[in-house]
Amino acid sequence: MRVLVSGGAGYVGSHVLLDLIAAGYDPIVVDDLSKGHAAAVPQGVPLAQVSLADAAALDRVFAQYKPQAVLHFAGFTEVGESVKFPDRFFRNNISNGMTLLDAMVAHEVKMLVFSSTAAVYGEPQTVPIPEDHPKSPTNPYGESKLFFEKILARYDAAYGLRSISLRYFNAAGAHPSGTIGEDHNPETHLIPIILQVALGMREQLAIFGTDYPTMDGTCVRDYVHVCDLAAAHILALRALEKGAPTDAFNLGNGQGFSVKEVLAAAEKVVGKSIPAQTAPRRAGDPAVLVAGSTRARELLGWQPRYADLHTIVETAWRWLQTHPAGYGEE
Ligand code: UDP
Repeated sequence: MRVLVSGGAGYVGSHVLLDLIAAGYDPIVVDDLSKGHAAAVPQGVPLAQVSLADAAALDRVFAQYKPQAVLHFAGFTEVGESVKFPDRFFRNNISNGMTLLDAMVAHEVKMLVFSSTAAVYGEPQTVPIPEDHPKSPTNPYGESKLFFEKILARYDAAYGLRSISLRYFNAAGAHPSGTIGEDHNPETHLIPIILQVALGMREQLAIFGTDYPTMDGTCVRDYVHVCDLAAAHILALRALEKGAPTDAFNLGNGQGFSVKEVLAAAEKVVGKSIPAQTAPRRAGDPAVLVAGSTRARELLGWQPRYADLHTIVETAWRWLQTHPAGYGEE
């Protein structure tokens, strides 16, 4: 089955491509390469360098490749940037996303898996966070993803376009093969930053806040391996193929680790101490974010294979050591 993958040259999308191929799907990538990397797309997978803002180009891709389903990863993801440039986030994540939906409706493509985020919840009232927790995003990134989920529900009601939104907690790690991994510019995520310090690419880690109401004062997050996220997309696609209704699922391991615990795990992986200093809180960081993800396990049959923090960091380390400059295109 032909599957169109928007943002397939990005971090999560590129890992999903390998699983799609292994599962016998026939992916076609649409990516404008503003953030993604052509080198992250496996050889033999067609890559249309097209912006989702370009309705005519998108229409040609749909006409040429005739996909039967879409996995939608394309979008901006950096929270801090979303506060500075909300216009860019709303335009790209909502408006351009709708251009993709309209192409789907025009070409009668009725199944979509959407890359959503734990940021739709905002400051949690209960932890672990269930899917029906109140949604009160604290930044434009989370708002853009939440609004798109609402749009998806309306497109189902009006046009019969069924979708599964997957709300990622903290995506981390890299493919165990060491061939693809995380390459953001600038990098803002904790695990790659810690490992860049270990590799001598940065002087030290700044620990953003040590006065949170957590066991060691640093923020607690639910780190989930990118390959486990990838596997969930295949399960979601299969569920849609079997007629599953529009739904949303959390993807996390249900276990939280503090910044200091992640640092300690990384020191074990790299076998040396990693310099760190305390820094002020980063605006908009909730103290604790941990997923309640029993629904993904029960309804999609999701079973994370790399839930162990050591393995998550180890795979990220393997990638960084062999690709210190990422895909090296810039
Ligand atoms: N963090 C940190 N120093 C850094 C980057 C991140 O202390 O240089 C903390 C951040 O405050 C948060 C956690 O690490 O509590 C995870 O941050 P990341 O940006 O990786 O993901 P987010 O939780 O924002 O999605």
